[in-house]
Amino acid sequence: MSTAPGRRPLLQMPLRVEHDIFVVRQRGREVAAAVGLEHQDQVRVATALSEVARDLLGVTGGADVTFHVDEAPDGRQHLRVDLVPVRPLPHDRYEPQSAAVVRLMDSLGAIGAGRDTVVRMSRRVPVTAQALTPARLEELRAELVQSAPGSALDELAAQNQQLIAALDEVRQQRDELAVLNEELQETNRGVLALYGQLSEELEATNRGVVALYAELDEKSAQLRAASESKSRFLANVSHELRAPVTAIIGLGRLLADSASDPLTGEQSQQVELIRSSATDLLTLVNELLDLAKAESGRIELNVAEVDLRPVFGQLRGTLRAVATRPEVKLVVEEPPAATLRTDEVLLGQVLRNLLHNGLKFTERGEVRLRALRRDDHWALTVTDTGPGIAPELHERIFEEFYQAPGTTRVGGTGLGLPYARRLVTLLGGTLELTSEPGRGSTFTVTLPVGGA
Ligand code: ADP
Repeated sequence: MSTAPGRRPLLQMPLRVEHDIFVVRQRGREVAAAVGLEHQDQVRVATALSEVARDLLGVTGGADVTFHVDEAPDGRQHLRVDLVPVRPLPHDRYEPQSAAVVRLMDSLGAIGAGRDTVVRMSRRVPVTAQALTPARLEELRAELVQSAPGSALDELAAQNQQLIAALDEVRQQRDELAVLNEELQETNRGVLALYGQLSEELEATNRGVVALYAELDEKSAQLRAASESKSRFLANVSHELRAPVTAIIGLGRLLADSASDPLTGEQSQQVELIRSSATDLLTLVNELLDLAKAESGRIELNVAEVDLRPVFGQLRGTLRAVATRPEVKLVVEEPPAATLRTDEVLLGQVLRNLLHNGLKFTERGEVRLRALRRDDHWALTVTDTGPGIAPELHERIFEEFYQAPGTTRVGGTGLGLPYARRLVTLLGGTLELTSEPGRGSTFTVTLPVGGA
């Protein structure tokens, strides 16, 4: 803050005797009012001044009091009061007896050293006040010199008035506080009621959820039990059927054998029908048995490092017998020379199943098996140029006994794909399909390199 040395003070006065404290207080308030401080600030300045004056009278035997207006670097004006003690302050320090006095002003304290020590206090002039130009300050100076200080009694009366006003204000604030408290209590009661209601609702919801979970658990247990009994039933029935069906096939073969009594043309046709039906039945029974075994988790994995090249080689050999249509080419690509950890037999079954389907449903073009290594997994794809599968059936064909419309005449049981997917899952992989009608199908077996 610039103190503009040399500029004449607005007012100056001595502080030597007890009575001067009243005068300093009164004049302080007058100056504060004159420079535009608000009423409360005037009281603050007056009170701080009388407190400091009382202290200094006791400690230094008095002081010379001067009032100034300064301008801070930010352009704001301040009322500054300097009290130059008659005798130096002990240790050049000053602390008001009542610490609260410091809070009445923007700044209050001793500055300088030795004989130059000054107790200085200042308070900012509000921006709303009339501008204190040098001319205006000159006017104020003249007015203040002329106004004679009142008596101690006047000042006491004024102080009383201020006290009453302050008390009034305190009472008003207390009343406002009481209203606020009341409102707060009401809000609290409301919040508590709401909280209670919410807790109850939450508890009720919780109870509902718990009951629901219990029911869900029970239902899953029932479902598991039902699924287990289904698998057990399928396994038992298929197992029991296998022997008689095999016997029928054998008997049919015996009847048709040239060493047996010759049959009439019609008889041998019927025997052939019995044989082929029994063979279909045996296929179904065998597939049911496989699926039931896979579902009940009774398949034991035999995991080892598998080289895909011999596996593909074997598939190429065995499926050549199935690929009888000259219009359809079976292409088993040479796999990369790397191994993966899996069950060789199960993987072979899955791929054979997919290739078999491809050959069964494709009328011209090709069926191709390919192995690709991608980062941490293998993708084994079986692609065909067959009829393709409508998108809405992509999941359905993995359901047991499902056969897409128009494909039933080719024969089959509808159990191959569910079984294949079951096995791939057991191997820790996935079996996915991409296909569009008229654009062929691609079945992709994805297996982790690290194995199941
Ligand atoms: P299946 O072949 O014994 O009928 P699957 O479970 O192997 O039983 O296949 C289910 C159905 O999925 C088949 O009936 C057929 O409709 C369809 N499907 C499977 N593979 C193909 C394919 N490569 N091209 C077209 N349709 C297919």
